[in-house]
Amino acid sequence: MNSVIVVGSFNVDHVWRCADLPAVGATIAGQYATGPGGKGFNQAVAAARAGARTAFVCALGDDAGGRLAREPAAADGIDLRAEASGQPTGTAGIYVDARGRNTIVIGAGANGTLGAAHVTAAPELLRGARVVLAQLESPPAAVEAALAAAREAGATAMLNPAPANAPTSAGLLRLADIVTPNETEFAALLSRHVGERVEPEAVAALDGASLHAACRKLLPHGTVVVTLGAVGAFVSHAEEDLRGDAQTYYRVAAESVSASDTTGAGDAFNGALAAALARAPEQPFATHVRYANRFAALSTERPGAAPAMPRHDEVMARFG
Ligand code: ATP
Repeated sequence: MNSVIVVGSFNVDHVWRCADLPAVGATIAGQYATGPGGKGFNQAVAAARAGARTAFVCALGDDAGGRLAREPAAADGIDLRAEASGQPTGTAGIYVDARGRNTIVIGAGANGTLGAAHVTAAPELLRGARVVLAQLESPPAAVEAALAAAREAGATAMLNPAPANAPTSAGLLRLADIVTPNETEFAALLSRHVGERVEPEAVAALDGASLHAACRKLLPHGTVVVTLGAVGAFVSHAEEDLRGDAQTYYRVAAESVSASDTTGAGDAFNGALAAALARAPEQPFATHVRYANRFAALSTERPGAAPAMPRHDEVMARFG
């Protein structure tokens, strides 16, 4: 039985590291690398390495990209539930400059064919599941089905509302028990669903009471976790969703590490939070957020996204 089910995207990442991002019409040199990626896949790897028995529901093409998903998933013990799609496997073209800034082009391909039926096709999948985690690189119908199925199975429905420009409806948010935006996604959701404007760069500096009030408008019934990069995370619970914590809102500070590549830090945080919650749902939520901060911090010390995910033993050895 799997305790964490991740529903989401798999992409073949094509990464070019260049001195500068290419300008319009320019041809430039860069160092190339390729490997498995996509928010869904990265978060599934994080959950599995954080110790959860993890299933990953996705759609893959019948091509080299699809085959690229299978070996690393098996290596991490992930129960891969891949629907065969007539479309090519999803791809991402990623340009990273010397300052770590990036420009990304996504070809959704097979990811765009993931539907509600893929999530509900295997009813035994959700038996025993504690957390179902979805992101927004998949069609809204698949994400909705994942969150609704979680609720029906008595599992926690967790939504990482990334990327920021993906459409979200109020109905979709209402299906989630926990929503985990980063600062950019939080600002986008506030503007779209609450009609409040805040600059992403200003989010971390907002006082707790203001952040909590904004979170409550966004998700009146559930828990919002805003990830704040090197600052850590802000947590806001509804009174009826305290999850073992005494306070309705609080910050959990990030760990101090030598971060060299924060790509996929959000995915590390989400997968680890889901795994921690599945492992010990009775423990205070703040404990799980501290674990997710630690797991994500370690991931920033290594290059890449999925390959950079640490293992539970490493997190315990480093932070106790
Ligand atoms: P990305 O898009 O790079 O995957 P994100 O913007 O979705 O990341 P962030 O809020 O930047 O997510 O980071 C997620 C978590 O990773 C943070 O809450 C924190 O726990 C950890 N983290 C990120 N950057 C650092 C850092 N420099 N030092 C320590 N921890 C970090």
